[in-house]
Amino acid sequence: MKITPLESWIARKIGYPAGGPPLTRQAIETRQLERLRETVGLAAKKSAFYRIHLKGLDEDKLSRLEDMADLPFTAAEDIRRNPLEFLCVSRGEINRVVTLPTSGTTGDPKRIYFTQDDRELTIDFFSHGMSTFTGPGDKVLILLPAERPGSVGKLLVEGLGRLGAVGIPHGPIKDPWSTLDLIARERVDTLVGAPVQALSLARLGASRETAVRNALLTTDHVPEAITAELRNIWGCEVFNHYGMTEMGYGGGVECEAHFGYHMREADLFFEIIDPDTGTPVEEGKPGEIVFTTLTRRGMPLIRYRTGDLGRFIPRRCPCGTVLKTMERVKLRLEGSVELGSRGTLSMADLDEPLFGLPGLLDFSAVLTRETDRDRLHIEIQAMEGGSEQLAESARSAIEAAAAVRAAIREGALRVSIAIRLERQFTPSPGKRRIADQRRTGAQQK
Ligand SMILES: [Zn+2]
Repeated sequence: MKITPLESWIARKIGYPAGGPPLTRQAIETRQLERLRETVGLAAKKSAFYRIHLKGLDEDKLSRLEDMADLPFTAAEDIRRNPLEFLCVSRGEINRVVTLPTSGTTGDPKRIYFTQDDRELTIDFFSHGMSTFTGPGDKVLILLPAERPGSVGKLLVEGLGRLGAVGIPHGPIKDPWSTLDLIARERVDTLVGAPVQALSLARLGASRETAVRNALLTTDHVPEAITAELRNIWGCEVFNHYGMTEMGYGGGVECEAHFGYHMREADLFFEIIDPDTGTPVEEGKPGEIVFTTLTRRGMPLIRYRTGDLGRFIPRRCPCGTVLKTMERVKLRLEGSVELGSRGTLSMADLDEPLFGLPGLLDFSAVLTRETDRDRLHIEIQAMEGGSEQLAESARSAIEAAAAVRAAIREGALRVSIAIRLERQFTPSPGKRRIADQRRTGAQQK
């Protein structure tokens, strides 16, 4: 089995001698500590936000990685309030601004700034990460936003170019049929996109010459049911990627062993904390993922709380790398809704049973309040044929979820299902969540 290509890349990036002894954890962590000190020093001097936020703390206090736990967190809300205060360079050095819409009703969007050098870090990661399963001459269809210069899709095209591969910047699917035509015409080898996007292509194109060799799934959590279906229909390898714009898009990617994501440890320092107490958890225990940038200069982030829940896998990956491996991220803290007197439900709880049903392409979930109980309305986009049976199976699958079952038994919930059969439909492009409309006007939890 091939070791993750991220290992030799990271070894080079941290100045580890080529052809020398194998990379060690100690070498990675020594360099991470140096970079953390530089980042904290830079931010405390140059960023108006961190000058106050880190007051009284200086980089000399960091003598071990564990000392990072003494630094305060950075919240999404901090960035939302005044993103410009995070800058460590002049406005003129900012090459790209990414505006992220907010998920609730909290007003301002989040803005993330990148310099030319910051963008280069992302392209470099994409190039090495994609080399896990892509090589010269391969065609890669990119179902991620790719219109603007500096967008994730454009950076991926650049990274692929360095491998001699051809990236096709397609953007999220508008019409699956025309995307399937493109896959057949261009003889695409690899797809990169959100899980639901890939599923709709696989199921709709099952009888056509549209099989790809690899699918890299990103943007949203990846249901096992979708991975299994892509493998089954296309006979392809399915890789998972974890990242977010705040990380400079990329965070970690699986190797051939599909054991979990290997992390981008030369550029990012990851911690897992207890979301309630803020204390780092024991290695291998689940908690909220927090990261600090190690090499970004425009807008470094220190102990940024991602809102994603994950854990490090304490065992070594079968590929043999010393890089840390993170288990597939399934949940976001803000993605769960409360049901009945005790239960919580997330999109992931619905995804596993529903995406396993044949003929289902996508669905949305909306929670509303009726006079005496809540109503969970599931609208399913289905393939033509067999819809009555699909509604029945969907109902059993949803009602089998523990929180749903308990809330129904309490008389606190009813489930309604609608099936749509439009030939033309647009699969969800990004992160999907249960829309909680029970308290209109209030912030969604
Ligand atoms: Zn591995």
